[in-house]
Amino acid sequence: PLMARVSALPAVIVVHGGAGAWQQDRLCHGIEGVRDAASAGFERLSAGHSALDAVERAVNTMEDNPVFNAGLGSTLTLTGEIEMDASIMEGKDLRAGAVALVKDVRYPISLARLVMEETDHVLIGAGGAERLANLLGVERRDPRTEYRVNLWKQAKRQFTEGTLPRYSKIMSLVRDKPEFQSSGTVGAVAIDLRGNTAAATSTGGMLLKFPGRIGDAPLIGSGTYADNKSGAVSATGTGEAAIRLSLAKSVCDAMRRSLCAQRATDWGIRLVNKRMKVSMGLIAIDRKGEVGASQNTPGMCWAFQNKRMKKPVADSKAKMLRIR
Ligand code: ASP
Repeated sequence: PLMARVSALPAVIVVHGGAGAWQQDRLCHGIEGVRDAASAGFERLSAGHSALDAVERAVNTMEDNPVFNAGLGSTLTLTGEIEMDASIMEGKDLRAGAVALVKDVRYPISLARLVMEETDHVLIGAGGAERLANLLGVERRDPRTEYRVNLWKQAKRQFTEGTLPRYSKIMSLVRDKPEFQSSGTVGAVAIDLRGNTAAATSTGGMLLKFPGRIGDAPLIGSGTYADNKSGAVSATGTGEAAIRLSLAKSVCDAMRRSLCAQRATDWGIRLVNKRMKVSMGLIAIDRKGEVGASQNTPGMCWAFQNKRMKKPVADSKAKMLRIR
């Protein structure tokens, strides 16, 4: 009877590889990358591991994949540095961990999990996060890739020449120029065989961001949220808007008020469209294991897998809700 009860529960994972405009020649790698990530995470779920293990595993595979702006292949700040942000949350007891502004950790999401499990804190930034990584013997790697360095040089040139005249307008200036979109943040949400939920988000942040700028990805309630009473959410897009709207928590609250995951992510994107009019993408999972994914950008690589599927389904777009 316990087994019957257990197997009636869902095991589902959803992942995203960032909202934005993907360059055509990189798109198939993005789709392949989210498919691999969903499959690696789902493997954990079907072996009986927790949703937390599954989202960490899925995000690790994308942090190792240079096509995404997370871990290896992270985007560069205005001054050409790497400053990665990540957070992870478990829906059972609302435990959470996050890191901000880390420079050379191989798996920022795993360091975020260590903040949750090995410290009394939720968010540790910059030098402190590096010190924690040293203390715990966490693996390091230089995340710079030629592709991101070239993008940065090009953007920086335009910035200095004044073709990107006002820094605060950069995002709207480059909205329709795929080569400048810092798309490629990664995220995952899952529900395991015990009905526990988890969410994780990891990013290099936005191209040409001011040094020390912290986005939504490491902020619990903005980029990441999970609560077994509602579901789990990961956001991607203009971090400042997700922070101001407490977006991930707001979408979880919408699920708690009875919206299914897809209606909740639609609601979240409509809220962004109405109040902020900037790029955003959302993935969610609700208590029943239903999946939601929506965006207002030209694309968002995403994938999901549940118990009825032999392989993940992956696509370059979720539900599109345009900014009017
Ligand atoms: N949300 C991320 C940030 O603002 C960027 C992204 O998702 O593309 O740092």
